[in-house]
Amino acid sequence: MRPVLIAGGGLTGLVAAERLARGGTPAVVLEGQAEAGGACRSLEAEGYTFDHTGHLLHVQRAETETYLAELGVWERLAIHDRRASVVIGGHTTPYPVQIHTHGLAPEVRRDCLLGFIRAWARDGGSEPADFREWVLERFGDGLARHFFFPYNSKLYRAEPEDLSLDWVGRYVPKPKIEEVVDGALGLHDAAVGYNATFRYPRSGGIRLLPDAVAERVPDLRLGREIVRIHLREKWLELAGGERLEWECLLSTIALPTLLDRLLDELPEEVTHAHRSLRWVRVLNLALGVEGEAPSAEHWLYFPDEELPYYRVGFPSNHGNLAPAGCHTVSVELSLDPGSGDVEASADAAERALVEHGLLDPTSVRVRRLTVIDPAYVVFDHSRRGAVAVLRRFLGDRGVVLAGRWAEWKYSAMEDAVLDGMRAARQVAESR
Ligand SMILES: Cc1cc2nc3c(=O)[nH]c(=O)nc-3n(C[C@H](O)[C@H](O)[C@H](O)COP(=O)(O)OP(=O)(O)OC[C@H]3O[C@@H](n4cnc5c(N)ncnc54)[C@H](O)[C@@H]3O)c2cc1C
Repeated sequence: MRPVLIAGGGLTGLVAAERLARGGTPAVVLEGQAEAGGACRSLEAEGYTFDHTGHLLHVQRAETETYLAELGVWERLAIHDRRASVVIGGHTTPYPVQIHTHGLAPEVRRDCLLGFIRAWARDGGSEPADFREWVLERFGDGLARHFFFPYNSKLYRAEPEDLSLDWVGRYVPKPKIEEVVDGALGLHDAAVGYNATFRYPRSGGIRLLPDAVAERVPDLRLGREIVRIHLREKWLELAGGERLEWECLLSTIALPTLLDRLLDELPEEVTHAHRSLRWVRVLNLALGVEGEAPSAEHWLYFPDEELPYYRVGFPSNHGNLAPAGCHTVSVELSLDPGSGDVEASADAAERALVEHGLLDPTSVRVRRLTVIDPAYVVFDHSRRGAVAVLRRFLGDRGVVLAGRWAEWKYSAMEDAVLDGMRAARQVAESR
């Protein structure tokens, strides 16, 4: 029998392969990069450890905890109470801003509070059609104007009305009016939201997790980029010309990349769906810096349009990631796919950090740039229909899709673990 081929050795592909191996199903993982782990890789340089971009673990399911314990990862994680803030017009206030406006400038605080109260009083129960309407109805025009619209436009490089509501429920908590009023007056400091606490390795970076899974994958082939795929004849080709046939193909590589590699003739509907997929890249500027971190926060959100970054983190505030007396900075910028000068964007970000007192340029010891592409799927109005068409087309041809970018969704590492498990079950049952 031909083996199961798993395209991509990120967390999803690794977990799927590990589970298949446990069940006695031979699987080969083909990973294009020289290291496994995908977006959860970390790199080391001159005593500093940098994740490809900020990666914190939020574990909500007992199944995940059990799995991480089996891998020997769970006991190596420390638990942290989130310290995150939002910076608007130079004023810093705790995250989530909707229940913590007390740190903002008085006129901004007034806008946010009045807007929320007016929206709350209106509460007509109408169904919002897009993200713009949803924010206005739920949070009011002040919070919309000062935070939700500029922040999300900067991150997704899309207008609020172009975004659907398919992603918002889980990630944006709805406050009660008492919480908003107390938050404007500085009367409470409750941390709410889906990530009020998180776990992170006590030492080393987030790669601890994929590395622990990779150790248990019997046939992991690194540096094997898939360049061509023939669905009808069930073979794929690697850079260098090697050809492999499959019994079952489990793909965790990004949907647009997979479709770009297909040699089969594609129906018009599939080509159209493929072309309509939208996403952004993330440029992560990682700095190893001498001296104390300029902030005790784990990370800061920056909605202001004139700043190039949307988030700045200080990962050494939650992990042992820098030599004694030094710290790390992780700066995230959202870029359109395939465009823009990465170096120039990183330089602009560094200048802005210096200008805003977050970086002393003479203390920078290590500087690394990483581009994650794709990084965030843009949930525009055509996404849902396009993904349904593509899933049906690939599913009918025996391709199992699993993971954040293969399923073209928004998800976290815990989801990748669960996706890998589900995909392994699906593959095992189909044989
Ligand atoms: C900016 C950002 C921040 C995030 N922050 C968090 C966080 O704080 N907490 C959290 O839980 N999650 C976070 N995530 C999500 C997390 O990274 C993902 O859920 C998880 O890594 C998905 O794993 P995956 O295996 O599905 O995909 P990937 O990690 O992308 O794995 C796919 C693999 O396929 C390989 N590949 C691609 N093309 C080919 C090819 N042609 N041939 C062979 N191999 C190929 C890639 O090299 C990669 O290794 C974040 C993601 C991003 C982008």
